[in-house]
Amino acid sequence: PFWKSILAGPAPRQSVTAPRSIAGVEATSDLLDSWNLFPDRPWANDFPNQWTPGETGARERLERFLDNGLALYHRRDEPGIESTSGLSPHLRFGEISPYQVWHAVESVVTPETRANASRFLSEVGWREFSYHQLFHNTDLHRRNLRAEFDEFPWEEPNPAHLSAWKKGKTGVELVDAGMRELWKIGTMHNRVRMVAASFLIKNLGIDWRIGEAWFWNTLVDADEASNPASWQWVAGSGYDAAPYFRVFNPELQAAKFDPDSVYRARWIEEYNTPLYPEPIVSLSDTRARALADYATMRGERPQQ
Ligand SMILES: Cc1cc2nc3c(=O)[nH]c(=O)nc-3n(C[C@H](O)[C@H](O)[C@H](O)COP(=O)(O)OP(=O)(O)OC[C@H]3O[C@@H](n4cnc5c(N)ncnc54)[C@H](O)[C@@H]3O)c2cc1C
Repeated sequence: PFWKSILAGPAPRQSVTAPRSIAGVEATSDLLDSWNLFPDRPWANDFPNQWTPGETGARERLERFLDNGLALYHRRDEPGIESTSGLSPHLRFGEISPYQVWHAVESVVTPETRANASRFLSEVGWREFSYHQLFHNTDLHRRNLRAEFDEFPWEEPNPAHLSAWKKGKTGVELVDAGMRELWKIGTMHNRVRMVAASFLIKNLGIDWRIGEAWFWNTLVDADEASNPASWQWVAGSGYDAAPYFRVFNPELQAAKFDPDSVYRARWIEEYNTPLYPEPIVSLSDTRARALADYATMRGERPQQ
């Protein structure tokens, strides 16, 4: 409904051109290098291969997507191929605006790419919807938007399970590949984010806020609106959210969206070797428990 009502209105205005100069105030300034902001340990070495912060990097990324990705966008759910824009960190830091993205897409769209373009713009619309939610709920990262979830019987997280999730060592391949991608390059494919989040919340029984905080600390596109709104969407506690009882099955998701294991083999070094761990939980048992917890929250008797 949100996106439909946006589309029913006028198209977004053209973005204003940048001023040649800005009359600022005279101020003394520290040299940025003197703040020693770079990490001592080389954990971020791979980040520069993935994105170039700044407006130029953002524009180049958009052009690359329009040239190569848009025609492939119907395959956006397949993490093994590059079919999405990679614009999220640039949008997050205001290096490009949704208006610029909108007009750039509309200027190149053809009858063949119309469906993909509309779908892509609707994803940008999810970002707008997230901001709409944040605007009306400034505690979006803390408070369940659907108050019935305040009764959810979360338990203290099992530290070993939480650590395995963060390190990508759960023995559940698609989850591990995503969590390792996140650790290595600060991002994760959207479908895998949904699967990894669902696994944490529903199979490990860990409160969505703990996962949200980890993503907030590790994503290069960590966004105060999109991150909590998406976690609440997966948890079922958000507006227009996936119902809680929709528990993603990571194995079926992997078979469907990574059928040739390209993505999993890319991120899991010991993929398909005896060194890869056994699953830390049974997917079917934990799914049943999640549904029982959901029934408890709703004051229903769990089904046998
Ligand atoms: C648990 C979880 C946490 C997430 N946390 C973040 C976050 O912190 N920051 C963030 O930008 N996105 C977040 N997302 C949304 C989405 O995963 C990323 O925006 C997307 O993967 C970025 O890749 P892309 O730029 O190639 O996307 P594209 O498919 O090319 O989409 C274009 C743009 O639309 C926006 N967008 C796409 N999907 C969504 C969505 N579901 N919700 C909101 N905006 C969207 C992004 O700005 C993105 O750059 C999260 C999703 C989940 C399931």
